[in-house]
Amino acid sequence: MEDVRILLSEQELPTHWYNVQADLPNPLQPPLNPRTGEIMAPDELKKIFPEALLQQEMASEPDIEIPDEVRELYRLWRPSPLVRARRLEKALDTPARIYYKYEGVSPAGSHKLNTAIPQAYYNKQAGIKRLATETGAGQWGTALAMAASFFGLECTVYMVKVSYRQKPYRRSLMQIFGAEVYASPTDKTESGRAVLARDPDSPGSLGIAISEAVEDAVQHPDTNYSLGSVLNHVVLHQTIIGLEAQKQLEKAGHYPDTVIACSGGGSNFCGLALPFVRDKIRAGKRTRILAVEPTACPSLTKGKFTYDFGDEAHLTPRMMMYTLGSDFVPPGIHAGGLRYHGASPIESQLLHDGLIEAKAYGQLAVFEAAVLFARAEGIVPAPESSHAIRAAVDEALAAREAGEARTILFNLSGHGFLDLSAYDAYLAGELQDSGLDDATLQELLAKLP
Ligand SMILES: *Cc1c(COP(=O)(O)O)cnc(C)c1O
Repeated sequence: MEDVRILLSEQELPTHWYNVQADLPNPLQPPLNPRTGEIMAPDELKKIFPEALLQQEMASEPDIEIPDEVRELYRLWRPSPLVRARRLEKALDTPARIYYKYEGVSPAGSHKLNTAIPQAYYNKQAGIKRLATETGAGQWGTALAMAASFFGLECTVYMVKVSYRQKPYRRSLMQIFGAEVYASPTDKTESGRAVLARDPDSPGSLGIAISEAVEDAVQHPDTNYSLGSVLNHVVLHQTIIGLEAQKQLEKAGHYPDTVIACSGGGSNFCGLALPFVRDKIRAGKRTRILAVEPTACPSLTKGKFTYDFGDEAHLTPRMMMYTLGSDFVPPGIHAGGLRYHGASPIESQLLHDGLIEAKAYGQLAVFEAAVLFARAEGIVPAPESSHAIRAAVDEALAAREAGEARTILFNLSGHGFLDLSAYDAYLAGELQDSGLDDATLQELLAKLP
């Protein structure tokens, strides 16, 4: 009988992150200055990011050492378990092996702490006193508040107003860790005041909250900005997930033919997938690597690969990515962490080059898979993560049809204990699928350069 939980000792925690920029067949397109459209010099971002993170953003070496203090904090919950979902396999009557990497064991409840800790560390090293950030559903704000408190930094979180009202427990968590939390748009920034002047009842959006946090950081010399996804250094820190998973699968004696993760900005997807992308590029492996997004915000499957802004007020650099446009406000689906108009430039380039694939699901199919998974494996998954579960279930069913003993690996990026109201709505039959109709999509894409 094969093991169900495949564990690594703390001594086996990876010593380096993996930087895919060293191996990309086509290099990334550089970010552009939002005002001039010229290629952005890294120096222009020094007002909001520490030198060490800017270096990682542009790094060309494949392996980047994880600082000892960061590894020490990772050991609070890492290495995280890799689990063979035997009961799910049985429920699906599939010959496929299904493995999931469980990032919900982090004290913040998701993978986001993997980057929050090094971001707080490098900012502390640089003499910064306070971090400003945005949060949608509250997962990123929670992780950064926790990491900031570990390093004695202050933390200001601009939380999208609808979530601030709907998710009071996320706000409590951030406040326990000492963060100041504001419902965005606020009247504390020019970007926020401009939105309120247009629409006093604005529910806010991630794009607006990013604008507020960036403005706060630009205007205060002792304050830097932190982003929870999308950027190259964030993706780099998350590769700890895939590097551990590779060691664990090796112990189990298997190599996956399919690797799956959900995708909002792309950080947990890249975190799991990039070490397997490395094996495709360097060793000719033929692994299928699948990013899964909601039909309500289909940037990878329906967006355009072009230069776009990261935020609503156009304060951030323009990045080359799959995007639906920086003023797109997706419908209020329950997977709040997947409601971002764009995608990581690294993930976008890989999709463009055919090294990965993307697929979208509506939320009803996603919650159906989430409940199936919870009943089989005993873990209530985050609605975001459940997009990956849906795709893994469909792959396992296809393996059953074909009679193939495949190996499927997916990332369970977080638990859903603070998303129970979403489950309530699903169980009461009150959830609806929302897609993006063709006319709206064409309108959005026409506005892009
Ligand atoms: C934030 C979040 C996501 C989406 O963000 P990515 O950067 O795409 O990983 C997915 N799952 C969970 C649990 C999250 O908190």
